[in-house]
Amino acid sequence: MSKPGLTTRILHADRLGGVEHGATHKPLHTAVAYGYASAGELAAVFQGAKPGYVYARQGNPTNAALEVKINLLEDAHSTATFGTGMAAIAGTLIALLREGDHVIASQFLFGNSYSLMLTLQRMGIALSLVDATEAGAVAAELRPQTRMVFVETIANPRTQVADLAGIGALCTERALVYVVDSTLTTPALFRPRDTQASLVVHSLSKGIAGHGDALGGAVSDTGLFDWSGYPNILEVYRKGDPAGWGMQQIRKKGLRDMGGTLRAEDAHRIAVGAETLQLRVARTSSNALALAQWLERQPQVARVYYPGLASHAQHARAAALFGAFGPLLSLELAEGIGHFAFLDALRLVILSSHLADNRTLAIPVADTIFYEMGPQGRAAMGIADSLIRVSVGIEDIDDLRADFAQALQAAQTR
Ligand SMILES: *Cc1c(COP(=O)(O)O)cnc(C)c1O
Repeated sequence: MSKPGLTTRILHADRLGGVEHGATHKPLHTAVAYGYASAGELAAVFQGAKPGYVYARQGNPTNAALEVKINLLEDAHSTATFGTGMAAIAGTLIALLREGDHVIASQFLFGNSYSLMLTLQRMGIALSLVDATEAGAVAAELRPQTRMVFVETIANPRTQVADLAGIGALCTERALVYVVDSTLTTPALFRPRDTQASLVVHSLSKGIAGHGDALGGAVSDTGLFDWSGYPNILEVYRKGDPAGWGMQQIRKKGLRDMGGTLRAEDAHRIAVGAETLQLRVARTSSNALALAQWLERQPQVARVYYPGLASHAQHARAAALFGAFGPLLSLELAEGIGHFAFLDALRLVILSSHLADNRTLAIPVADTIFYEMGPQGRAAMGIADSLIRVSVGIEDIDDLRADFAQALQAAQTR
């Protein structure tokens, strides 16, 4: 049989792993501790000589079942889950970096990831923020101490698309850890492994869960990076196949020691949500494209940013790399039309942060999620004071268009 498709893989992952009583879902395991029949067996599990669970902060069977699914979706070597996307990112970076190292990151990062980078900088890790839409901008910042490059596939909220393949080629040539945050694309649209990513991070709270009822994060090792040449792997984790060294250190230093564990209840919800990932992403992507195309034609709208539009600066790259263009668009209204007046007139769309939810959400970016970084930080990211971010859901497109139409009309006459 040829390799099964994404939805087939995820729907049958539990069953093929051997589920208790033939249940079609992996059951929810809430135990904190796991007991063994002999001290020898307990010691073997602790030492990693025998598979098993010891204490749930480091893993449990429910989280492991979700890790198998994400690993299948990313075609990865190994995956660890965390309590949030930020816990996954922080755990990964802190596990793999040391004082004196240098990191190159996209200047268009998700606000909290950007804030985390500044924290690491205060702890002695040098940082360069670059325009990641050009691999040349990354190349220009390389130093002997450069260890890692961190980018997002589609940036939130201005939707810049990173030069994923160009940066991948550069990182491979220079043996740099290439971390790609694929939250906005999800495995339904893109696999970072195809552009030579070393590690893939996800906020599972977003599109992979979809229902907006659980927080979670994950990091997957694609298996492409040679950890035997990475100087920051501690002696104690330089055991066995080097392909597993990076993930061992992330699990021990990033998950076990920092404690940002995913709750089993949330792992279960995310796994159930992920079963319909491909269906939901197809719908949110087609809704978002239709809405973006319609918005671009409205006289009350000055600019629309969506990678699916021919007018988008990286449209050709997005079309070549991604199966579709995802749920996120942003827009600026025409001169004289207040963005708060427009948002206040929306009836169906929810005024809320969060993204890639089943429901359509809108937020004034500069006044909320990007408020803390100030006007200069926003200018560097291309964020205008009146920018509105829209995360398009799975509602019926006619209802969405009607809501936007009446709100644009109301804001114009206000
Ligand atoms: C939301 C988000 C995160 C953080 O995820 P949480 O689960 O909210 O901690 C990281 N990266 C991107 C691109 C995001 O959209």
